[in-house]
Amino acid sequence: MKVHEYQARQLFADHGIPVPEGETTDSYTEAFEIAERFNKPVMVKAQVLVGGRGKAGGVKYAENAEAARVLATNILGMDIKGETVRQVLISVAADILSESYVGIILDRVTQRPVFMVSSAGGVDIEEVAAKTPEKIHKLAVDPVVGLKPFQARNLAYKLFRDIGQVRQTADILMKLYDVFWNVDASLVEINPLITTPGGDVVAIDAKLNIDDNALFRRPRIAEMRDVEAEDPAEVKAREADLSFVKLDGSIGCIVNGAGLAMTTMDLVKRYGGDPANFLDIGGSSNPQKVVAAMDIILSDPNVRSILINIFGGITRCDDVANGIVEAFSQLKPSVPVVVRLTGTNEKQARKILSSVDLPSADTLDKVVKKAIELAGETA
Ligand code: GDP
Ligand code: MG
Repeated sequence: MKVHEYQARQLFADHGIPVPEGETTDSYTEAFEIAERFNKPVMVKAQVLVGGRGKAGGVKYAENAEAARVLATNILGMDIKGETVRQVLISVAADILSESYVGIILDRVTQRPVFMVSSAGGVDIEEVAAKTPEKIHKLAVDPVVGLKPFQARNLAYKLFRDIGQVRQTADILMKLYDVFWNVDASLVEINPLITTPGGDVVAIDAKLNIDDNALFRRPRIAEMRDVEAEDPAEVKAREADLSFVKLDGSIGCIVNGAGLAMTTMDLVKRYGGDPANFLDIGGSSNPQKVVAAMDIILSDPNVRSILINIFGGITRCDDVANGIVEAFSQLKPSVPVVVRLTGTNEKQARKILSSVDLPSADTLDKVVKKAIELAGETA
């Protein structure tokens, strides 16, 4: 789950990381009032879950309250990478001398939180990572021990020479690790971490992604979810308790079990097709899940065929078949659907499915090839 900058900033501030003063609003008149109250130049910042707001024109400097009102009027309602701006953060503008990058990701290879710091921060950090990766310094943290102060200082020395700034930065890094740990983050970023002409080190942007699997024990964080800003298909999938990941291909996949779902996608690829998604309906066999899955997949305009692959164990094939029949009657799919069902109650399932029009194919390989063929790709 992603949270907005203003929410991540609040968590940073709660942990003692210095951030500029700011307030969020959805109205331009209130934007004026907030800026007037601060009585200083402010930044008007689009609050969206996608990155690169600055480059898209969603982060602007306002000399005074009137300018803030005009900018808020422009930015509210703006479309940034498909997301509509519904709120702006009015934040006291900082004087910037330098911009650095600091972040922590959960690295699945080393199974550790890994710090990344670079003095080449700002809006082009992706380019730095791609073209001059040597400018990014990394440190894997042993999660049992946590980040030690000497490690934080070593990282801070990669960014600054001035001892005062090294101390401030080391302190921020220790606190950033606490944020990462305390909310079960999968990623936390400050880009840019700035220095001011007065020598202060301040976090003026905040990015935070939370591990969805940990939200059950982070109720305060779970409440930060902004459903309206999220991808509608992913929201629907979550509500229906489906594991769903959208991809770019044309073959919609409905499978039970994560392993079988991966295998199915691999086979689609192997025979020259491209999966439109990963979707695991899970172990239970509620027919409603099949309807929800089909509904989500059909809402993707790239989908040209649907491949259903069910291995009946605890999941009963007849329940899934009932779901498929229900989905056909409710949704009237406009693309061909290919089904492979095997295992528990397979025979009953076939009987149930005889009421809908499905191309025949039995083995997994044949079914996959059929789905690719029907999608108009070469099998
Ligand atoms: P992003 O584009 O979504 O990463 O948004 P940021 O909050 O990082 O802002 C983008 C850029 O706008 C920063 O890299 C800064 O150069 C500039 N910026 C943001 N806040 C301030 C500020 O308080 N003062 C000044 N002078 N520039 C700012
Ligand atoms: Mg930024």
